[in-house]
Amino acid sequence: MTRRLIKILDGLWREAIKLQAGNKCEFCGAPRHIKPLHAHHVIPRTNYRVRWEPLNGVALCYRCHMHWAHKDATAFTAWFKQLVGSARYRRLQKMRQEYYDSTIRDFSYYKGKLKNVGLRGGGNLGAALATIRGTRR
Ligand SMILES: [Zn+2]
Repeated sequence: MTRRLIKILDGLWREAIKLQAGNKCEFCGAPRHIKPLHAHHVIPRTNYRVRWEPLNGVALCYRCHMHWAHKDATAFTAWFKQLVGSARYRRLQKMRQEYYDSTIRDFSYYKGKLKNVGLRGGGNLGAALATIRGTRR
């Protein structure tokens, strides 16, 4: 996959995670219009198998992201397990171990998957996509 496509999927993933969370910090509940949200990777994005998985992200405000999730990994993990349930947590842990060979076909797969997550969250990722593409000059 090219850098450009990776950048597009990263942008779609961030937006889908925020929509999936109802545009609120999933830890403290602060709405997006009060505190800008960050999309936090539970398993670091250096693992491409789960980099664009909707299950691998939570929306957090700056404070909860930088001063909690990144500071207290044990508390964050316990909280996340509770949030998604142990079955989904185990599924994510299994996914991270899977062999992954990034191909161009993944772009369409993840683009479609993230758009659906966005739609379920009540938003349209078309605008996000246009913004991401527009910044690429
Ligand atoms: Zn917060």
